[in-house]
Amino acid sequence: MDAQVKKKKLGLKPRYQAMTRGLDWQTSYQDMDKVFPYDKYEGIKIHDWDKWEDPFRLTMDAYWKYQGEKEKKLYAVIDAFAQNSGQLGISDARYVNALKLFIQGVSPLEYCAHRGFAHAGRHFTGVGARVASQMQSIDELRHYQTQAHTISNYNKYFNGMHKSNHWFDRVWYLSVPKSFFEDAMTGGPFEFLIAVSFSFEYVLTNLLFVPFMSGAAHNGDMSTVTFGFSAQSDESRHMTLGIECIKFILEQDPANVAIVQRWIDKWFWRGYRLLSIVAMMQDYMLPKRVMSWKEAWEMYAESNGGALFKDLARYGIRPPKGWEDACEGKDHISHQAWNTFYNYNAAAPFHTWTPNAEEMEWLTEKYPDTFAKYYKPRFEYYGEQHKQGKRFYNTTLPMLCQTCQIPMVFHEPGDPGSICYRETDHQDVKYHFCSDHCKEIFTNEPEKYVQAWLPVHQIYQGNCFPEGTDPTVEGFDPLAAVLDYYEIEVGKDNFDFADSEDRKNFREWKGGVEEEVSP
Ligand code: FE
Ligand code: ZN
Repeated sequence: MDAQVKKKKLGLKPRYQAMTRGLDWQTSYQDMDKVFPYDKYEGIKIHDWDKWEDPFRLTMDAYWKYQGEKEKKLYAVIDAFAQNSGQLGISDARYVNALKLFIQGVSPLEYCAHRGFAHAGRHFTGVGARVASQMQSIDELRHYQTQAHTISNYNKYFNGMHKSNHWFDRVWYLSVPKSFFEDAMTGGPFEFLIAVSFSFEYVLTNLLFVPFMSGAAHNGDMSTVTFGFSAQSDESRHMTLGIECIKFILEQDPANVAIVQRWIDKWFWRGYRLLSIVAMMQDYMLPKRVMSWKEAWEMYAESNGGALFKDLARYGIRPPKGWEDACEGKDHISHQAWNTFYNYNAAAPFHTWTPNAEEMEWLTEKYPDTFAKYYKPRFEYYGEQHKQGKRFYNTTLPMLCQTCQIPMVFHEPGDPGSICYRETDHQDVKYHFCSDHCKEIFTNEPEKYVQAWLPVHQIYQGNCFPEGTDPTVEGFDPLAAVLDYYEIEVGKDNFDFADSEDRKNFREWKGGVEEEVSP
């Protein structure tokens, strides 16, 4: 077009209004409820969408400009890191296993969040909620991309990262994060916001990001620190969305309170169970420790969460049902999770090890009531066995919780000597659970959870062998067939760190410097 149109500059606020809510319209030849079929069936009542406070106040053009600047800096750091062989500057090669866990189990959740927010954003009648969700959807896609690009440098030098997306859909422990997010995505749009924006991002996210990012800083991984900073500046917007959305829903109608409370109970517990993996990463996988899981829980959950639920009490919201059990678990879950992965390391594409003497001391000091009494003797025994050439690998399959999909490895609250185990019957089939809370989540929506793709059940049903496998042939090795289906490179991706190629290579690259590991 040749004609010059003189542009009038709007102020920030009217411009924002025009670029977001001003773009909305009411449908005329189709009923609005038909166009937005999902935002009523959960039972949430919204009377006035205009009361929605936008947490972002960013227009799309400003968003791209701002994020583009941020990403330019990130990619400059990634480049410099690769050019200078930054991977050799990390504390020791054990650290990389924290990154493996991240790219296998956390980054795919960013992609799930991208999909989930895009879906939720399509299904809100209110334009404010729609814009906020769609904006976050783009953030989450960027998070996946920046993480994949950052960690790809490590993939050139270390095992256990080359098939992360393939593993996410198949490998036993990755069904824990996968099922968490698929549960959220298949809820309605309001449940999705309470699950992800509020329960996860607002209440629990610091327990995920802070340990990984300060862990990276302490262990010399500046490229991961940089993507952490990039994501963290989005995170504050996401947390604002979490708190705004819950207040908005609660203020709209008193009937919403009971529904929201049940979601908080459910999603707090699901998020807490998911964080077991972070707890063990923090206490066992960082050669240079940041703080213990217990300390992080006390700081980010107990004190921050305590204040939050005091604040929400005026709406009639109480702390989540699993709160006390989660607090009781702070002394135990990291040790129980690491013990499990140590056992099943033949089938997991990252390395485990027993803590060295100095680390045992640290753990004893951080967990004065539990570590020396319940967990240290086990790790000492494992270490002894390994020294004698008998590294223990468990080749049986554990029973899984139908809800969180974690093996039954957690203790009975208040009784660390016994395993917590619950069951229920539904339409003549027995289902098993790791806790009262996972059982209650199931009982509230059995139709949903009977469909769970439980890795152990799938293996036993013969669904996790490569196509064309005949399990009846003489000498058939089911574990080998499963690892083949997982596409794990046996002897490279799995087994103990002490015997690993990662360790051997790193030692050579560093000119023979030996990290302190046992045995
Ligand atoms: Fe994210
Ligand atoms: Zn469970």
